[in-house]
Amino acid sequence: MSSHLLDHIQAQGDGRRLCRARIPSALLADPGRIPVETDGFAHIDLTLADSKIVGLDPAGQDVDQGCDLAGAIILPVLADIHTHLDKSYIGRRVTNPDNSLLGAVRATTSDHENWTEDDLWTRADFALRCAYAHGTAYMRSHLDVLGGQSNTVWRTMARLRDEWRGRIELQFVAMAPLGFYLDEGASGFAGRAAEHGALLGGVTVLRNVPAAEMDNKLVDALNALFGYARTHNLDIDLHVDESLDPGATTLLSVAEATERHNWQGRVTCGHCCSLSQMDDKQREAILARCSMAGISLVSLPLVNTWLQDRRTNRTPTRRGIAPLLEARAHGIPIGLASDNCGDPFHPFGDYDLMEVLREGTRTAQLSERSPDWVESVTTVPASLMGADVRLRVACGADFIVFSARSLEEMLTRPQHDRVVFRSGRPLRQPLPSFAELDRVFAGDRAGLQGLR
Ligand SMILES: [Zn+2]
Repeated sequence: MSSHLLDHIQAQGDGRRLCRARIPSALLADPGRIPVETDGFAHIDLTLADSKIVGLDPAGQDVDQGCDLAGAIILPVLADIHTHLDKSYIGRRVTNPDNSLLGAVRATTSDHENWTEDDLWTRADFALRCAYAHGTAYMRSHLDVLGGQSNTVWRTMARLRDEWRGRIELQFVAMAPLGFYLDEGASGFAGRAAEHGALLGGVTVLRNVPAAEMDNKLVDALNALFGYARTHNLDIDLHVDESLDPGATTLLSVAEATERHNWQGRVTCGHCCSLSQMDDKQREAILARCSMAGISLVSLPLVNTWLQDRRTNRTPTRRGIAPLLEARAHGIPIGLASDNCGDPFHPFGDYDLMEVLREGTRTAQLSERSPDWVESVTTVPASLMGADVRLRVACGADFIVFSARSLEEMLTRPQHDRVVFRSGRPLRQPLPSFAELDRVFAGDRAGLQGLR
């Protein structure tokens, strides 16, 4: 991307030395000898050689020799731990009539027949180019791999993962309704996920089960899921309690199953919106159990605020966000992620974790001063994906420079002029134009008729 900030970096020195930058000290692998300021930031000078960081020192030495960033914030590359690459942008083709969660599921299912290899590749590659330009280097995507489209989805996504290796490392989650793990086909489904190095996932809603049988059926289905996870040595990532019904407590059942199967530290739960509607005692009891079970929580603020508490012609009064501050107080690792972009679940979204952090900060009233929550789009999700993005000497020079000196400044603007360094060089890849997607949507009723 071209920007004033990039011009500044290139005008001063050769971009090999960046002086007087600020970084949250928790995002340094070895903060030892670098003083930390009262706001949690460390003031550093960075020296690059080839694709690596070769010097990371306390600020203030040899400013003349490089580019003076004058206190601008540097962050590691971003890690988006919950996305749906295969659904990206299908909102141009199918409509969610009432913008409800169920409406989104139905609209998406009706679109599966359009998921050819070319269609999937074009949409998902576009999504990855957006994420890459914004500074994302790790991404986990849930995939609809149950049904007639599954072979095409696996084949295309495997190709895409190879194509993108070195720019964005991709991890996949095989999605199925929880009840499916009790079916005969589950064995082959789990085996396929294992072949692709994917996690096992799905949605913890059981449909068409009489209320009296619900508890037992839930335990049976979770036992089956964890059984396959053990057989193939796979982690688990579930969509959990994405509703504002305080009676939706499958999160507790997942925590109990995690302990029962000794799968601590290997289970991620996304959404968990219903926790926000429980009384303090019930919520605290469930969070304590999650903490004991080593469960990680992923919140999707853009999609939750769009879908939750939605009633026709009524303005929502409930935010639908999981209780992030309370969960953090229990020591539960928390990621913030994009979820759906341009599909029947959420018509917006640009795979930009800085937007997610900004909106999450506003919606959940996270701190505007402490940099703790920056970890939820960088180190925490990266570590859940098995990566370490913290800056250190001798590691790859992959980081982002912002035109902002404080969190307030960083979250005030969209940061479209951020400069993403990959392998020691500023990226020159612009955000793709939406017109590039027109080809796969040609002839569709929901296309941009007005622009034709
Ligand atoms: Zn999702």
